[in-house]
Amino acid sequence: MIKVQDYRPQPFTDFTQPENVQAYQEALKKVRAELVGKHYPLIINGERVDTAERLTSLNPCDTSEVVGTTAKATIEDAERALQGAWDAFESWKKWDMDARARILLKAAAILKRRRLEACALMSIEVGKNYAEADVEVAEAIDFLEYYARSAMKYAGFGAAETTWFEGEENGLLYLPLGVGVSISPWNFPCAIFIGMAAAPIVAGNCVIAKPAEDSGLIAGFMVDIMLEAGLPAGVLQFLPGVGKEVGEYLTTHAKTRFITFTGSRAVGLHINEVAAKTMPGQKWIKKVILELGGKDAMIVDETADLEVAVTAAAQGAFGFNGQKCSAMSRLIVVDEVYDAVVGQFVERAKALKIGTGEENANVTAVVNQMSYDKISGYLDLAPQEGKVLLGGQPLGEVNGKQGYYIQPTIVGDVDAHARIAQEEIFGPVVSVLRARDWEHALEIANATEYGLTGGVISNKRERLEQARHEFEAGNLYFNRKITGAIVGVQPFGGYYMSGTDSKAGGPDYLANFLQLKSVTERW
Ligand code: NDP
Repeated sequence: MIKVQDYRPQPFTDFTQPENVQAYQEALKKVRAELVGKHYPLIINGERVDTAERLTSLNPCDTSEVVGTTAKATIEDAERALQGAWDAFESWKKWDMDARARILLKAAAILKRRRLEACALMSIEVGKNYAEADVEVAEAIDFLEYYARSAMKYAGFGAAETTWFEGEENGLLYLPLGVGVSISPWNFPCAIFIGMAAAPIVAGNCVIAKPAEDSGLIAGFMVDIMLEAGLPAGVLQFLPGVGKEVGEYLTTHAKTRFITFTGSRAVGLHINEVAAKTMPGQKWIKKVILELGGKDAMIVDETADLEVAVTAAAQGAFGFNGQKCSAMSRLIVVDEVYDAVVGQFVERAKALKIGTGEENANVTAVVNQMSYDKISGYLDLAPQEGKVLLGGQPLGEVNGKQGYYIQPTIVGDVDAHARIAQEEIFGPVVSVLRARDWEHALEIANATEYGLTGGVISNKRERLEQARHEFEAGNLYFNRKITGAIVGVQPFGGYYMSGTDSKAGGPDYLANFLQLKSVTERW
């Protein structure tokens, strides 16, 4: 058994303290000097492998800047990574659970020392402001610390309880699945990337990690930390590449045992479909773990504290420009307080500063041209589906910097079935829906195919209790913002089209990557 104190989430940094801001700015300079412009090759079987073609990562807040490059894996590279991972699995699966867990703890310790560098790199690569980057790196450390401890409960024969039966010894063994593919998004490119790799790895599996194209550098930075912590060659294969090419190849491959995917609903459903088809030579039913999008709602009723409501709405809607699966993209307000809530919400949002992640703006640029175009399309639709109360324009340039900027946008009196109330926009755009009363508000909240996060701002106990059971969301929050789940505190994952509800950072998450074997000996 490893000797560790009980798990405690990392505290966040207080950026109202000038010394913390100064330390962040020093880290930005260090990262500019040491990491910007860097090239990350593939890592296959512990070797760094370069490719003829490269993927370029741009600063979304200043698109004239290339942040760095990664190799671009080919199908041949993917094949080699898969075969090599199976070779590595033969010995990795025999490691003691505590020995595997120690590597995660060591990686967490390294990341704690390099926390500011990881933050600064994300400010430049994906445009996170200081607080958004800080909570994400805290989450990455938490995943490593939490999964290392969780692993202990699956160690050894008899880890799970069985009933005594006279004349026999009976017990259960948790066994790793084999080699899997981990495909992650750009919006939490440090925490989700490493959490989705570290969990299966500590359970004894080997993983091929394909990061999103827009965030290859921070992923490369995290893989280097895992290797520095002592992960053996082949256990974590780093395979930046194009999703439709190497991602597709690996998810359909007969030798892939499991797929853990976080990303859009469209890609997730596609993976679910192709992974279900048995390929020649395939020996198992692939396990697919999906964490997808959301159209998350927060209800404000007539008993609510309006200050709490407005603060929660602004934080939930515009944190990291609404580019969170948990972001509040539907604000449902009961008629009696609609004007007051919406008026104050608009005023609050007007005060948000637009700029770069590096200058710690409240709202920065969205991640790439595709996202910018997609959100712009919804902005065109907004006046037809509601009343644009704030924003409504893509900006393209802010303070002389060309980037993918979008004005924080609030659209009032949107019908519950309008496209902007149903489809995930993934930007700083909120649809406000008017409800007749509490019951109607709850009905609107549930009128979506998604079920990820949700919230209620109310001072009526009966309504909170009703919502506890009837509000259909994997993560439900009362009288606070609906984003910012903390590992171990609010295990995270959604229902319905939001995913398979695997609850990352939860007590049973590692079980997704294990199979149980019952062994009986008759005396
Ligand atoms: P995408 O679905 O576009 O991409 C996710 C990953 O899938 C990327 O690495 C991408 O590669 C890859 N990919 C694309 N096509 C394929 C394919 N055919 N086969 C295999 N892999 C493929 O999502 P985004 O990166 O845009 O992330 C945003 C989405 O993620 C939002 O919908 C958001 O709600 C969701 N999300 C959900 C979370 C949750 O916990 N439920 C948490 C965070 C985000 P490439 O980059 O090369 O295209």
